[in-house]
Amino acid sequence: MAEKSYYIITHGCQMNVHDSETIAGILESMGFVPSPEERTADLIIINTCSVRETAENKVFTKIGELKKLKRENPDLIIGVGGCIPQQEKVAKRLLERFPHLDFIFGTHNLPELPKILERVFEKHERVLEVWQSEGQIVEGIPVKREPGVRAWVTIMYGCNNFCTYCIVPYVRGRERSRKKEDILQEIRQLVAEGYREVTLLGQNVNSYGKDLKGKPMFAELLADIDKIDGLWRVRFTTSHPRDLTDDVIEVMASSRKICEHLHLPVQAGSNKILKAMHRGYTREYYLNLVEKIRAKIPGVSFTTDIIVGFPGETEEDFEQTLDLVRKVRYDSAFTFVYNKRTGTPAAEMIDQVPEEVKSRRIQELIELQNGISLELNKNEEGNIHEILVEGKSKTDETKLAGRTRTNKLVVFKGSEDLAGKLVKVKITEGKLFHLEGVLV
Ligand code: SF4
Repeated sequence: MAEKSYYIITHGCQMNVHDSETIAGILESMGFVPSPEERTADLIIINTCSVRETAENKVFTKIGELKKLKRENPDLIIGVGGCIPQQEKVAKRLLERFPHLDFIFGTHNLPELPKILERVFEKHERVLEVWQSEGQIVEGIPVKREPGVRAWVTIMYGCNNFCTYCIVPYVRGRERSRKKEDILQEIRQLVAEGYREVTLLGQNVNSYGKDLKGKPMFAELLADIDKIDGLWRVRFTTSHPRDLTDDVIEVMASSRKICEHLHLPVQAGSNKILKAMHRGYTREYYLNLVEKIRAKIPGVSFTTDIIVGFPGETEEDFEQTLDLVRKVRYDSAFTFVYNKRTGTPAAEMIDQVPEEVKSRRIQELIELQNGISLELNKNEEGNIHEILVEGKSKTDETKLAGRTRTNKLVVFKGSEDLAGKLVKVKITEGKLFHLEGVLV
């Protein structure tokens, strides 16, 4: 294939961003080169997310817009991958509705991408490859990561939980863990390339290993990663509160590399709603877990995800959520208004909450959380933190940016050659979404 250029449009979570790194790696190993913008690319791939129905609509709009580019350049190849086409009906609808779309591949077909592209570019076929079953994990697929100090490593795929609002188990399949040695090898290689912080990725990292021979636990994996020389920091996401075991807390407490931050999605504060969501824990269990972790890991920070307006949520249920937020005092929270997701059980529930109630509740929740976040950040003033410098700040080019071990963004003045280094910074001002500081 003559040298062609590619452009990837990524929607959705960090897992999808990492999948796009893999798509880029595969394309570059085939001789494609990155295009700075979609207008000049020979191949455009949209890596989609279907967690929210609104995200799906955005993708449909985007594919529609690309028609104009295809008209200007009939040789342009357009493909769609990720969670959206993993739903068979949607994939077929895409092909019918958008004749300018050249190929579609599902979440399980990523390793097949070279063969798909060969069929598209050389045999001029229109390809639909969406496997409904997961297949084996394929190792050794090239990944093209952003240069820097931080890298993301997938440790497992899929999810077995079937929370009633979530499409993930249907589009990403059941839990499949990568072998421990393959993960360790990848991280050793990343360290050799100069990366100093890794974030382990999975829909539910705490159930890592349950499907593997010998059932290595997530805690064991963390303990082994902790021993890798040259690695400075380890993070992981996402933790399901139900599966976060004491031994993981112990490893976190005794390790110097595993950072003192937990993203622990609670989703709701009322037991009735937690049950309807099929989350598998109660508010009492959750609050107790937070307390236990705080006792073992001093200074640990907590972030969370919360859904407002789940079907059947009364004022009293919502009050319970606010109450839980007040009790935990999260450092920050991703807050969402519940939206029906076709294909999930919650979409069929009859007692949907009216839109105006949902918008009032989300405002109230955001206000509460912002107050707590700001207060906690103000409490940091005068404290000295170890910061891993990521480079220039995205919002103020004259400053550097990096994160505390507790995952707070810190912005401060300093020379650019500090990028990739660990420095000490004194916090001078706590803002809502970041901290300002000075080098010490
Ligand atoms: S744990 Fe629940 S919310 Fe998270 S991916 Fe699995 S089903 Fe979805």
